[in-house]
Amino acid sequence: MEQNPPFPSPEELKSKLAEFMKSNFGDRVAFTTMTQPETAETGAEEKPPREESDDFDFRFLPRDIKAHLDRFVIKQDEAKKVLSIAVCDHYNHVQYVRRLEKQDRSRAEETEYAKQNVILVGPTGVGKTYLIKHIADFIRVPFVKADATKFSETGYVGGDVEDLVRELVHKADGDVKRAQFGIIYIDEIDKIASAGNMIGRDVSGRGVQTTLLKLMEETEVPLRSAMDLQGQIQAALEFQRRGKSSRQTISTRDILFVVSGAFERLKGQVSQRIARGQIGFSAEPIRVMDNELFQHVTTEDFIEFGFEPEFIGRLPIRVVCEELSADDLFSIMKYSEGSLLRQYERAFRAYGIEISFEDEALRLMAEAGAKEKTGARGLLTVWEKLFRDFKFYLAGSGLSQLRVTAELVREPRLALDRLLAEGHKHEAVALDHQIDIFAEAFRKRHDLEIVFERQARQRLVERAQAEKMSMIDLCAHLFRDFQFGLSLVRKNSGQNRFSLPVSAIDSPDKFLSDLVVQSYYPAHAESQPG
Ligand code: ADP
Repeated sequence: MEQNPPFPSPEELKSKLAEFMKSNFGDRVAFTTMTQPETAETGAEEKPPREESDDFDFRFLPRDIKAHLDRFVIKQDEAKKVLSIAVCDHYNHVQYVRRLEKQDRSRAEETEYAKQNVILVGPTGVGKTYLIKHIADFIRVPFVKADATKFSETGYVGGDVEDLVRELVHKADGDVKRAQFGIIYIDEIDKIASAGNMIGRDVSGRGVQTTLLKLMEETEVPLRSAMDLQGQIQAALEFQRRGKSSRQTISTRDILFVVSGAFERLKGQVSQRIARGQIGFSAEPIRVMDNELFQHVTTEDFIEFGFEPEFIGRLPIRVVCEELSADDLFSIMKYSEGSLLRQYERAFRAYGIEISFEDEALRLMAEAGAKEKTGARGLLTVWEKLFRDFKFYLAGSGLSQLRVTAELVREPRLALDRLLAEGHKHEAVALDHQIDIFAEAFRKRHDLEIVFERQARQRLVERAQAEKMSMIDLCAHLFRDFQFGLSLVRKNSGQNRFSLPVSAIDSPDKFLSDLVVQSYYPAHAESQPG
């Protein structure tokens, strides 16, 4: 396959740009206009290489890391332990070599070390990413995650493997040194296994493995991608400004790689091998439970699965994450510090609603979540579906407490209707109280007393609720002319206190004009009761 021509060097690019300017705009436009970096800079986003951090200081013990993970990750005890050790070994070694380099470079170079890159096996949604992300947060190293499926052998169909390394620099706020201690996590690694026994197929998977292999070993990745036009122009400008361009690279030597996948097919493979291996060995076949199969995976199994021996050889730490049962999902909701429950507490609190949960309700949600077969991700689906309408209708409903009971989980629609009716009632009481506030303000301001009859009050509340208005706004709107009309009536008849019936709410203008007319012609009014 033909490759793209190599991207020009900064020097070449500069002359090409100058040529382009000249041929398109003639002699009067010169490429030198781009020498004012502040105005010509295309890369507002481009951060200058930052002041780099001092030496890496790693002082964690495996048990510190495990204790931190225990706060967030439920179950996966073995994985937590193995990962904590691998991470400590890796960074302790990095620190050791860095210090040795300062004293004796040649001895540092001679130090042999097999990097503790990790392969994580386990179904989706059981905490694989979550574990690694929490480790990276805790030990404060940058972390990048990607799916292996988006890479192609030559890069740039979906993305370049080297972009991951550059992404680490971005995550480290441009601090290249810190980026070099980062963690790169690549999911769906099982998808790039080549179907080993099929000749001539899946070359691409093998190609991606080779590319990743180089990265996992030790290689220098240029800070600027050859395909990053903006970065290249930046380099050209820099070359023009300073007469030289810095070709910065990042070494992948100290980056920790974690790859993961569900490896569904591997289970069948392992169980077959175990069955085969037992023939003739023992009369009592060893029984291996389905969820234990992964514990028996060997390097050979991975190779048969479709990985290159060199590739799998660079992943010496093998970790299995177990499937999560409904009970585990319950514990995740109730005990994990990163539980969805806290997220929902915050979301509802923002609407002035305190949400709380009965254990029985959490159990029902856990069971529903487990049925989704997507690990803890199933919970997200269940919660979102269950609470969507509650958030929508209860926000701004006047309700301030939401107790999530088993009944609510079983019959959410019914519970919501009931809560809304309750909220409606609370709101009605509050609105009714505002009627008095309005009347009192009216009395103070105009020295006129208005008293709403019972039915009138009810009608006001109904209208305020139907029209979603505050009572004060509704009254101010309905009775906007009352101060003038009633003052006139007072002048004519000396009346100071007015009782307002329902008709004063339904047609306030007519009610007021009738009153005024009556005050001019009391006798006439008596003969025609309104
Ligand atoms: P995957 O195993 O596919 O990488 P993730 O780690 O991305 O799954 O899990 C998705 C989400 O589910 C996490 O962000 C976390 O909120 C929750 N979760 C998954 N497993 C656990 C676990 N064992 N303990 C607590 N939360 C978990």
